[in-house]
Amino acid sequence: MSDGLTPTQVDVAVLGAGIVGTSAGIAARERGFSVVVIDRKEPGSETSYGNAGILSSGSILPLNKPSLWRALPSYLANTSAALRWDPLWVMKNLDWVARFLANAVPSRTRPRAVALHGLIDASLKLHREWIVKAGAPQRIRETGWLKAWRSDGIASAKAEQAFLAEFGIKSELLDRQTISALEPHILPVYKVGLLHSQTASVDSPGAVAKAYAQMFRGLGGEVRQSDIKAIESTGQGSGDHGWRVTLSDGAIAARHVVVALGPWSADILRPLGYRVPLAVERGYHQEFTPNPARSLQRPIHDAEGNFLMTPMENGIRVTSGVELTDRDAPSSYAQLNMVVPLARGVVEFGSAVAEPWRGARPTLPDSLPMIGKAPRHQGLWLAFGNQHIGFTTGPATGSAIAAMIAGETPSFDASAFSPGRYI
Ligand SMILES: Cc1cc2nc3c(=O)[nH]c(=O)nc-3n(C[C@H](O)[C@H](O)[C@H](O)COP(=O)(O)OP(=O)(O)OC[C@H]3O[C@@H](n4cnc5c(N)ncnc54)[C@H](O)[C@@H]3O)c2cc1C
Repeated sequence: MSDGLTPTQVDVAVLGAGIVGTSAGIAARERGFSVVVIDRKEPGSETSYGNAGILSSGSILPLNKPSLWRALPSYLANTSAALRWDPLWVMKNLDWVARFLANAVPSRTRPRAVALHGLIDASLKLHREWIVKAGAPQRIRETGWLKAWRSDGIASAKAEQAFLAEFGIKSELLDRQTISALEPHILPVYKVGLLHSQTASVDSPGAVAKAYAQMFRGLGGEVRQSDIKAIESTGQGSGDHGWRVTLSDGAIAARHVVVALGPWSADILRPLGYRVPLAVERGYHQEFTPNPARSLQRPIHDAEGNFLMTPMENGIRVTSGVELTDRDAPSSYAQLNMVVPLARGVVEFGSAVAEPWRGARPTLPDSLPMIGKAPRHQGLWLAFGNQHIGFTTGPATGSAIAAMIAGETPSFDASAFSPGRYI
């Protein structure tokens, strides 16, 4: 405990107790480091709380893939449930938009899919191990994830299946009858389905993140609730390095600092001279009272309705598409308002259990996270930018950082995630 004057001294200070930071904390404790994970909120209260809880084996193609070009005209009128954009934000962030689009070409897509496949694979292994160790095995459901088309999506489904198969990722092609057998309580609106059978999901991502934080405490780690104000190098040069983390109620001295602040990560790095091209793809969810006798068995992604619905602990969670605007701009429920009636046309549910939730998917122009050392500072490690799949990839992202701090090689090829590609 800090007295506010003498900083607590640790080996590793992890900034952020989302799924990424909590995972870094666990993996660093497992390697014997003294670790504090700092967050202004309870662990797993922000992006890692409000997501769809899908532990996706097959999300190896990011949003900026070649098919984005075909979809672009449908986004221009700014009325799509899939993607909304704030013209002012686009003007201010033309560089990010141009770089994001430049990655949506075949030659830059396959290498990213290979990199993400390695990260996802490593992370799913950790989730399946940790959720048991954390005493929350009842929260994981090995029922897969159903992507479904209302019109004749057979060509799209087959193309996706063939692509996934190249990576050894299993999926099953379904027709109206087999979809009904799998999801007996939904109306027969879907003509074609693709079941990602190796994908799992959880019934409360926030509760899983909290269980992991509890596991971290059980390993001897400290969780500190405090606002992080700044980080400052205290090293004397030539191999000697150290950091001071200034908090709203004190300070921490650490040999290593891990930045795992999700959509807030770029802010803390700016005073150190790093201009990280991190944008956010905002998204919303709302939860509704289910009819327990007629509920969903698994998450369903409505490919043409552009939404996702999944059974959660507190109700059916409907999540929306992407909104490109400032991280902190006021909420707009236009996309949710479009998709909730569509979801009601698939499965029966009652009134909303709470107000809509808003979150921000942290995304770099190539849709790959940064996992590794800050290029110009010793002992500064970056772990953020996990876009749409950060709940899936959090454990391996955090573990790779802990391995690097310990001088080990991560369990997957992390070279594509090197921070040096942008800063
Ligand atoms: C609608 C939606 C649906 C999604 N669905 C899925 C899904 O199904 N599967 C999947 O894998 N991913 C999904 N994602 C993505 C996933 O949620 C994120 O990529 C992931 O949660 C990011 O985790 P994180 O730890 O990097 O960030 P966060 O969980 O946001 O953690 C960052 C932490 O930093 C803290 N913080 C920030 N600034 C400060 C400060 N100054 N001082 C102290 N603390 C600070 C915050 O309080 C926060 O707890 C979805 C995202 C959205 C928005």
